[in-house]
Amino acid sequence: MREKLRQIPSVSSVLSDTRISELMTEFSAEAVTDLIREQLSHIRSTVDSESEIPTILEISNQVSDHVKRNWSNWPRTVINATGVVIHTNLGRAPLSTESMEAAVDSSKTYSDLELELGSGKRGSRQARISQLLSSLTGAEAGFVVNNNAAAIMLGLSALALGKEVIVSRSEAVEIGGGFRIPDVLKQSGAILTEVGTTNRTYVMDYERELNEDTGVILSIHSSNFKIIGFTATPSISDLSNLGTSKGIPVLHDVGSGSLLDTTKYGLAPEPRPQESIAAGADLCFFSGDKLLGGPQAGIVIGRKSYIEKLSNHPLARAFRIDKMNLAALTTTLIHYLKEEAQNKIPVWQMISAELDDLRTRAHNISTKIPSSDLYSAKVIGTKSTIGGGSLPGETMDSFGIQLTVKNPENFALKIRTATSPVVPRIEDDAVIFDLRTVLQSDDDTLIASIAYSLQN
Ligand SMILES: *Cc1c(COP(=O)(O)O)cnc(C)c1O
Repeated sequence: MREKLRQIPSVSSVLSDTRISELMTEFSAEAVTDLIREQLSHIRSTVDSESEIPTILEISNQVSDHVKRNWSNWPRTVINATGVVIHTNLGRAPLSTESMEAAVDSSKTYSDLELELGSGKRGSRQARISQLLSSLTGAEAGFVVNNNAAAIMLGLSALALGKEVIVSRSEAVEIGGGFRIPDVLKQSGAILTEVGTTNRTYVMDYERELNEDTGVILSIHSSNFKIIGFTATPSISDLSNLGTSKGIPVLHDVGSGSLLDTTKYGLAPEPRPQESIAAGADLCFFSGDKLLGGPQAGIVIGRKSYIEKLSNHPLARAFRIDKMNLAALTTTLIHYLKEEAQNKIPVWQMISAELDDLRTRAHNISTKIPSSDLYSAKVIGTKSTIGGGSLPGETMDSFGIQLTVKNPENFALKIRTATSPVVPRIEDDAVIFDLRTVLQSDDDTLIASIAYSLQN
């Protein structure tokens, strides 16, 4: 053993390798040296009498691989060929060009983020977005934070600390990514009171529970699951009537925040923020990066008096939205005011993509995949989904390429780790590239990555 340990190269011997000297010119010499030390100590701690001790060349290769993998820009861009439009693992909604440029412009220099240029006095980063949200939804005011989970936490902390929050038993759920309504309630200092049953809840059930300890009524859109069959849930307007008559605010978490009507695209209805406000919700909550198609954000709209309570709460500071997201969100909202959302916002471009166009693109791509005895590619009709916890069970007809290869898992791994990574899905033992979620400008890159992964 001692003999083995003695064979491990020294730090200085690895440092003298030319590959390492190259790294030292590009990166901090100290950081590279630390990496070598870590690598050597890892070898030392895992060595046993059977192990082969790596050579200097092998160690410098390991260090160089580590640097290439980890000390480069991240997250990397990938081509989403899964057919899932809002894919949380792939960063949810891609931004419109205009939104992306607004984020860059706002951050590459100083801005009037919290300064009123006219008076020279301190301003609010929320004033502009609040007005835009009002114009779009008819709400009195709006407020934005980091994400919808934070928005709900803030809403409950500001309006229901130490009080009861009435929630239907069918809605005390987990929304995904560990966001559980009962836990969020606990963390915000509110007390959960569940009413009704898992499948049926009536206004009467809420009414029976109201008392002097009631803080708010909370209604949560069941975004990522569906209870079908013998079900009942009161409408927001019924709940609002109850809330108004008893002086209890009604909070409505609509989740994806679709400002457009999903039924126009052949999909099931998704609750829209403007409808929630029209139905009388006191506050309505939604995400910025789901069907709104903007950056990560949590958006609250509703009554001015409640919005003010939220904005004055200490958590509002902790959940503050940053200027890049605020700029991108502002520009995303303006797309809706210009009635150009469908043409400019990528998630809506994808949802509204014409089947004929998808078929033509699939055909073009498939003809450019070199043929072989080892694999075959053909155009197939497929089904895309919305994802991101929106419209569960709903699919959109789409077109894609079906690639039959010997080992689909292995091919998927290859193309995910290609120079231009592609994330396909595997179905019926074949690799599927669904074109609905591939940006048209990426078609050539997709072809190149497929060709590369077939050859290597
Ligand atoms: C997605 C979702 C959330 C969480 O929103 P984030 O922006 O991811 O924090 C909360 N409620 C509902 C109903 C959702 O669909």
